[in-house]
Amino acid sequence: MNINKNYQNISDSYLFSTIAKKVNEFALSNPDKKIIRLGIGDVTLPLCKVVVDALKSASDDMGVKDSFRGYGPEQGYDFLKTKIQNYYCNFGVNLDLDEIFVSDGAKSDLGNILDLFDVNNTVLVPDPVYPVYVDTNTMAGRKIIFIDATEQNNFLPLPDKSVKADIIYLCSPNNPTGAVYNKAQLKAWVDYANENNAVILFDSAYECFITDDELPRSIYEIEGAKTCAVEFCSLSKMAGFTGTRCGYTVVPKALENGILNKMWLRRQTTKFNGVAYIIQRAAEAVFTPEGQKEIQQNLNYYKENAKLISQVLTKHNIWHIGGKHSPYIWLKCPNNMTSWEFFDYLLNNVQIVGTPGSGFGTNGEGYFRLTSFGSRENTLEAVQRLDAFLN
Ligand SMILES: *Cc1c(COP(=O)(O)O)cnc(C)c1O
Repeated sequence: MNINKNYQNISDSYLFSTIAKKVNEFALSNPDKKIIRLGIGDVTLPLCKVVVDALKSASDDMGVKDSFRGYGPEQGYDFLKTKIQNYYCNFGVNLDLDEIFVSDGAKSDLGNILDLFDVNNTVLVPDPVYPVYVDTNTMAGRKIIFIDATEQNNFLPLPDKSVKADIIYLCSPNNPTGAVYNKAQLKAWVDYANENNAVILFDSAYECFITDDELPRSIYEIEGAKTCAVEFCSLSKMAGFTGTRCGYTVVPKALENGILNKMWLRRQTTKFNGVAYIIQRAAEAVFTPEGQKEIQQNLNYYKENAKLISQVLTKHNIWHIGGKHSPYIWLKCPNNMTSWEFFDYLLNNVQIVGTPGSGFGTNGEGYFRLTSFGSRENTLEAVQRLDAFLN
């Protein structure tokens, strides 16, 4: 046999292992110092009560002959898909049930969707961005070109008509920068994709953090998007499902005359067995009015954390964006420090751990990501330490 040599081209993910190593070394030599972690991209608040109730009651269903479920539909139960369909109506987006595919999360689908596309397509990826887009295409041996997200374009690059790409990744609100495309900007991408017969893979994992009604929460709010975009969403950041696992992907039938929708169904029914019934019942609870109210409380908690971090950075004239419609704050390292220099600086002086921007792409160098996913107590303490130290 021959191995897939493309794997030799994936860069080892040193980012989080290097962070862990540096933090462990510091902790060993400074056992009396409390370290505050604001680097994690994982939620910390527990599941909402309605979700836990749904998990319990669905577990009971599984122990009773009449309500027991075996293999389910690979693309998800209608009870959940109907809820997701109604959720999209809130944004003025109408979807057919068979355009919605329930999955175990956005990361899997973002990688798996590549089964549908020829290896000879050119892929366009913003820099900096969530590393999964680059790694999955590198594994498949696809050519990747980058588009610069910089301070000059507010980390929201727009299409360059002289660049020809077939598969385009967009992530809005963005991880790591927290930048959000407005409708006119997304329309430029949709027009570019339709003109070039390209497909947009739109990652909306953080749409629920958007509070401004003018900002699009789904790419299908943009006219023409159904003929060029696949949308990926997840309950991970929305409802704390990072360890529970549920997401959904929309493949419109208007895309490529229905061929991609059919291919994705075929792909999922062949290679995926669906999400556990119990988990789909928990996801269903998220979309009930009570569930929406409860998850909103958690989202508000994270947003308040973000506001506290943003305020202290503003006070000390540290350039930053994000935090408003996203759990991430993206700041420019002061005094021209590199991302890793600033990492060491924060760890050594105030024992705050963040994520070096350079880990998300070349343009991330000199920038730094802080998250609002910590506890209020820790966030307040971090803010207080920063305030005292930066004075
Ligand atoms: C967290 C995250 C995801 C992954 O979501 P899962 O459903 O947990 O796989 C997808 N995209 C971005 C940008 C993320 O930050």
